[in-house]
Amino acid sequence: MPQTIVRCSAPDCREPAAYKIAAPWSDGSFSELKSYGQACTEHLGAVFREAEARRQAYKLSPGETIGEIGIYKYEQGKRDRHLQRLWGLEENYRG
Ligand SMILES: [Zn+2]
Repeated sequence: MPQTIVRCSAPDCREPAAYKIAAPWSDGSFSELKSYGQACTEHLGAVFREAEARRQAYKLSPGETIGEIGIYKYEQGKRDRHLQRLWGLEENYRG
């Protein structure tokens, strides 16, 4: 069976995703890594900034929390909790 290729979320980009932009999310009882998008190397900055803007504009429900947005190395088929966070890269894109 062919694998689904996860692509960059920048408009019109057809590159496969190399990074995942995500933030820890919780509703008080359940928690997960909430995805804000995927990016190729070229669009990482744009996708990351767009994700941060979306997170800041988001209105939390009572009991809901969202942590800091991070850049994770995207690996096909790997579970979110096992993704490697790339702290060094995030420094380059924080304003
Ligand atoms: Zn791209």
